[in-house]
Amino acid sequence: MPDIKVINEVEAMQEISEFLRLSGKKIGFVPTMGYLHSGHLSLIKKAKEENDIVIVSIYVNPTQFLKGEDFETYPRNFEADYELCKNESVDYIFYPDNLQMYKRNHMTNVMISNITTKLEGEIRPGHFIGVATVVLKLFNITKPHSAYFGQKDAQQCIVIKRLVEDLNVDVKIEICETVREENGLAKSSRNVYLSDEEKENSKVLFRSLELGKSLILEGVNETDKILSEMGNLIKQNIPGVEIQYIAVTDNELLNNINELNNYTGNVLISLAVKTNKTRLIDNILFYKN
Ligand code: AMP
Repeated sequence: MPDIKVINEVEAMQEISEFLRLSGKKIGFVPTMGYLHSGHLSLIKKAKEENDIVIVSIYVNPTQFLKGEDFETYPRNFEADYELCKNESVDYIFYPDNLQMYKRNHMTNVMISNITTKLEGEIRPGHFIGVATVVLKLFNITKPHSAYFGQKDAQQCIVIKRLVEDLNVDVKIEICETVREENGLAKSSRNVYLSDEEKENSKVLFRSLELGKSLILEGVNETDKILSEMGNLIKQNIPGVEIQYIAVTDNELLNNINELNNYTGNVLISLAVKTNKTRLIDNILFYKN
């Protein structure tokens, strides 16, 4: 297995990507914050299948964390990530430091309105400015033909698609299904913060999403009823849980759907909870006739 090339500098990465493009190679890009797990690997595998060259970025972007969030303690393990990437025959890891990404006088940010102030954006104001800005920068650095994101972060997917459409960014966005533990808990780098008991209890999050989906598909009309049944199930199973939001929305503008009988199209049920100190998000997406 050939060693992966680890690139730390923006200009070096840009030169390599430009050369690859000129050589007719199709570049697939997987942006991550590292501490890779099988969710990330599913994105990498898809990128590998669909492209000649795969670039994975590993960068814990400070600007998408709010004050008091877990930027400093976010799990990091470059050596393990490197080995996982090597097993997947990744070609390049882009691994910059903060000074490479944000030069001294950085003052340009990407602000997407409307959808970024709902759900995650309401709890984490400014989060999506950090996300959209860093993703656009990473696109300009790695120059991919296609970029791969996980449905696990449903709102992020919607925001990135908006960014690409609104600013005519020439990158195809591919969304990959959420990878879960056997018990249903969505894989996340932050799951490492959970005790075994919390991990076991948190499987109820996916069960509650499935409950919401089945109530909707059975024809329940009032969203409030669905939200309260889901909320009760979660509270019964995770002692002391704080439910930050549970929402039933469309999957484009993230508008609440209040009367389900009048609605046809994609339904996104998403939620965020805090158990002890760990924040978990998850969602389920399905079509309703
Ligand atoms: P992160 O390192 O958490 O920023 O995630 C990097 C990418 O991996 C994002 O596009 C995530 O949505 C995606 N991802 C994270 N967890 C999962 C998962 N369990 N299943 C699928 N994709 C995931």
